[in-house]
Amino acid sequence: MFNRDLVLKQRAEILHALCSSGSTEHLERVLDKLLSQGELIWEEYQNIQVQGRALYTNVRQLLDLVYTKGEDTCEFFLAAVKQVLPEAQGAGITFSGCCSNLEKTGESQSTSSQTLLTQRASLVTKLQACIDGALEALVESGHFTSSDCDDVLLPIHTPSQQARRLLDHVRSKGESAAKCVLHYIQESESSLNQEKWTLSKEFSKYQKKLSSSVSAQSCFLSSYGRTSHMPLDEIYTEAQLELANDFADLSGALDLDDIVGAAGTVNDEADTVLVSGEAGSGKSTVLQRLHLLWARGVSLKGFLLLFPFSCRRLNSEQRELSVQELLFQHCCWPDKEQEEIFQFILDHPHLILFSFDGLDELKQGFSDEHMVCCPTQRAPVNILLFNLLQGFLMKGVRKVVTSRPEAVGPMLKKHLRKEVLLKGFSPSGIDCFVKKHHRDPTVAAKVLESLQMNTALLGLCHSPVLCWIVSQCHKELLGCGEGSPQTITDVYLMILQHFLQHQSPLKSTMGLGWLQEHIKVVLHLGQLAFEGLGTSCYIFTDTDLETCYVTEKDICMGFLILSKDMSSTHSKRYEFLHVTMQCFFAALFIVLSNNTDRSTIHKLFEPQNMKGTRLSSNCFMGCIPSSDQQEQGLEGESVIAETSNLQITATFVSGLLSQRHRSLWFHCCPSAGMEKKVRQVVKCLSKGMHKHFKSIPQPVQGEKKSMHAMPGFVWLIKCIYEMQECKIAKDAMSKLEVDHLKLTYCNIGPVECTALAYVLQYLRNPVGLQLDYNSVGDVGVEQLLPCMHICNSL
Ligand code: ADP
Repeated sequence: MFNRDLVLKQRAEILHALCSSGSTEHLERVLDKLLSQGELIWEEYQNIQVQGRALYTNVRQLLDLVYTKGEDTCEFFLAAVKQVLPEAQGAGITFSGCCSNLEKTGESQSTSSQTLLTQRASLVTKLQACIDGALEALVESGHFTSSDCDDVLLPIHTPSQQARRLLDHVRSKGESAAKCVLHYIQESESSLNQEKWTLSKEFSKYQKKLSSSVSAQSCFLSSYGRTSHMPLDEIYTEAQLELANDFADLSGALDLDDIVGAAGTVNDEADTVLVSGEAGSGKSTVLQRLHLLWARGVSLKGFLLLFPFSCRRLNSEQRELSVQELLFQHCCWPDKEQEEIFQFILDHPHLILFSFDGLDELKQGFSDEHMVCCPTQRAPVNILLFNLLQGFLMKGVRKVVTSRPEAVGPMLKKHLRKEVLLKGFSPSGIDCFVKKHHRDPTVAAKVLESLQMNTALLGLCHSPVLCWIVSQCHKELLGCGEGSPQTITDVYLMILQHFLQHQSPLKSTMGLGWLQEHIKVVLHLGQLAFEGLGTSCYIFTDTDLETCYVTEKDICMGFLILSKDMSSTHSKRYEFLHVTMQCFFAALFIVLSNNTDRSTIHKLFEPQNMKGTRLSSNCFMGCIPSSDQQEQGLEGESVIAETSNLQITATFVSGLLSQRHRSLWFHCCPSAGMEKKVRQVVKCLSKGMHKHFKSIPQPVQGEKKSMHAMPGFVWLIKCIYEMQECKIAKDAMSKLEVDHLKLTYCNIGPVECTALAYVLQYLRNPVGLQLDYNSVGDVGVEQLLPCMHICNSL
């Protein structure tokens, strides 16, 4: 098909793809490219990019124009759209006809003003890093007034918009201003190159060694473990990134580069960028992708060295270290000239990037008690880390840290440069991931079709870890027909069965006997997981495995993977495929074992009860701050993260004890014990709900009775949903009597909406539901349908 027809036929899709983020960024980048290519002249550009006019109108105008301009312009246009759109957003559009190379600019131009046009796309990128300096140069040379500068720097503009505004102003000022800004950009580039030239041979060798080690660590996705080696390049799918701060809505969807870039900066003085998201939302994978792109020289080009750390692995560092030792021993050892290389790092902090994955898994909660400012001073690793994040150590080095949201309290927040939220896959992201996972398009189509038929499961797939499991277990999924998974527990049971049956030489076990056949493996791994959760242990040594009777054969099942270690000085260590998998095995142990403490379930559902108790034999004791720790001033942030793991485990326990799964356990454990555990869970849920209801204040006369729910309320609702027993949901809701239910800031996504609808449908009286400041989305709203009859407002 001709490109012109492609533009016409796909007008609605292109319009949607360029506008759906709400940001003008995609349109502007397309326009930059068309201007650079000379496919648009300046006046046409101005006619399209009318400030204050609706984005949709501007895009329609552009579509009309390129169509009338003919086949060649349409080809360039499609190529530009393809380059600009994130992969997932462009997934539904056919670009087949477009083969234009948009990078072929750069021929010498007769005037500087012309260069501003032909190089526009790359100038916008370059200027973002040096906008203040460029403005200064323009003011000093008399080309710009301070009101020009104010206009460029208006806070409503994103950094790329500021760069474009600057270029537009320069253009209106004429040739001499254009010369001035080009000269400035060239100078600042060559000063960076200058720095590169002065790098010593040893430094360059070190840089190479570090980048090849980072590349080796990040090129495969570890969740695919022994079953298949999956290159990150082949499976990586863009997840949804958003800025946490309200004003940032203006800039819309973010790219990977924006994590470290200037967009959404709230505190220029701070160096630390936080990427936060729920367990399984893809934080480690996003970081891994950034590492890989840096190692290849594709992204983060401004950083000469990148030092990646995993907080999980830092937990096992018992020694006190200096920053120098931390960098060299944990990431990459310089073969020679250690002092010279470290001095370079100290002298050029802006060229260095540190990343810390999984702050929530650090055993010690964030604290600002102990200050360390000297990079050669030794201190416990957690103290070093806290000082790095606050900028007392290695000021100017950019740091990216990932964490679950609950684990970051106000004490750390005030040291953040910005916060980026990771929201899992978008609907088109799910589509894209499944297609990448299944190279065979017929299989991919079948999986996607079965997801469309089961909206509860589709909702779950917004979480990348669940999407991965569902794709991994496609045979089970396609084979289960009507009874396809509804809950998170169903999905994890599916992968349990998948791994057990794929690794076992006896693949013949049909029906419900599969669990019984593998009960020993499940109990061994379950004990390891359970004890690990109790002591905040996520990496296991051979001794840990032996203590729980985990054998080589059990390891081969695929639930445990070898822990990656940059320093590679340790002997073999293992971790669960994902922290949620550890929670799942811990839950299996609680349900199936007769050896757990009788009060375990009670403590699991009410972890706060453990505070201050001294039952050191209790496995969950380690998660809770002892009074000693509190006296020492250790902050409770990691405890909150531990609570989050316990909550995930409790959710699985509820699901595993659901009536629907009891036949599975029938041959594995005595039913009397099982019934008792079910009663305990139901009682805990009811008590937990009651506590929330008791906190509802009496309404002021004339006002409606309103409940402001806390995230803990949503968690209880999720546990009830996992049980899939309407009687429990009915009982819970029979005691809730409010006119207005406020669920703001409760981290509610499509998964939570499914659970909410399941439970809220049993409310006795109509209620107004307030869901602002969550990530409900269209899919979430759809999930809410079953409870719409009882909502008088949403
Ligand atoms: P988190 O660190 O937030 O707990 P992970 O990054 O470990 O989550 O993601 C869990 C799993 O989900 C990964 O092992 C991978 O299989 C899948 N996954 C996550 N993000 C992506 C992505 N962007 N592209 C492809 N797969 C992903």
